[in-house]
Amino acid sequence: MEDKFPKPNIFSSKCLGFAKCRWNGEIIQEGFIDKLKPHVKFITTCPEYEIGLGIPRDPIRIVLKQNAYRLMQLNTERDLTERMNGFVSEYLASLKEIDGFILKDRSPSCGIKEVKVYPGLEPSSSIKKTSGFFGEGVLKRYPHAAVETEARLNNFTIRGHFLTKVFTSAKFRQVKAGQKMKDLVQFHAENKFLLMAYSQKELKVMGNIVANRSGKGMGELLESYELSLRKALDSMPKFTSAINVLTHALGYFSKKLASQEKRFFLNSLEEYRREQVPLSVPVNLIYSYIIRFKEEYLKQQTFFKPYPEDLSEVKDSGRGRSYR
Ligand code: SF4
Repeated sequence: MEDKFPKPNIFSSKCLGFAKCRWNGEIIQEGFIDKLKPHVKFITTCPEYEIGLGIPRDPIRIVLKQNAYRLMQLNTERDLTERMNGFVSEYLASLKEIDGFILKDRSPSCGIKEVKVYPGLEPSSSIKKTSGFFGEGVLKRYPHAAVETEARLNNFTIRGHFLTKVFTSAKFRQVKAGQKMKDLVQFHAENKFLLMAYSQKELKVMGNIVANRSGKGMGELLESYELSLRKALDSMPKFTSAINVLTHALGYFSKKLASQEKRFFLNSLEEYRREQVPLSVPVNLIYSYIIRFKEEYLKQQTFFKPYPEDLSEVKDSGRGRSYR
């Protein structure tokens, strides 16, 4: 399955390993982004540099003025709000077919949440938190896209969800480009278990779209299917849904496995439920049965390998399933 992954188009803040463009002239080396490089196509920019602030530059911050957020430069006291908003609209309108975004955490330009808001330019504590100007533009324009910060991607669960979303999105773009019914049918078949884990409700809707009982044209079908797909992948699946999918998968081998083997699998599922082992433990057990019993229908299910294997790593921020 490894060679079947198309490269997702991912936007990244340029300072995350692509250029020394931070306000102090530094670059941030991100191991995960380096690891992604052979597997994705990166598109990068630095909004602060693009609006002419130069490198290095005086830092900027978000200030609450008359109930509105303004982007202000500390030492020069320049108000950069209009200039930044103009850049954000123009730049985002020029982006084509993006599968996901990795944005610099807490930046007043790129951040998506947790960006400090100050009452003014003088030294003081922050009064609340919001999104950066560019980050806010991304969230508004791409409500269903995979949008994360490099910091949140340290969480094992968030990283897995992000990778699943961007690789599924890239695969669907291929289907969309081909405009062939057989590709849509195959995409739906291969993603059935994955969608079952994400959203039973959307899986049903998508099944009906693919069945096409009302004889819609390919363009209309793909549009409705894409909308449902994006909705299905919006939220992380509940861990109990993965347990349901794996229990369903076990059914394919119920007559082939010895009762001891089945017990062993169900124990590992229970250990996953109690957060004693990662999901990969019961998933790999099922995958070993898939290989042993040559179960081709399950082998093609993206649920078992939603993204290239060498992007899986157990590194975690230590917050387990509490990813909010
Ligand atoms: S966070 Fe965004 S604006 Fe700031 S240096 Fe990085 S790319 Fe540029």
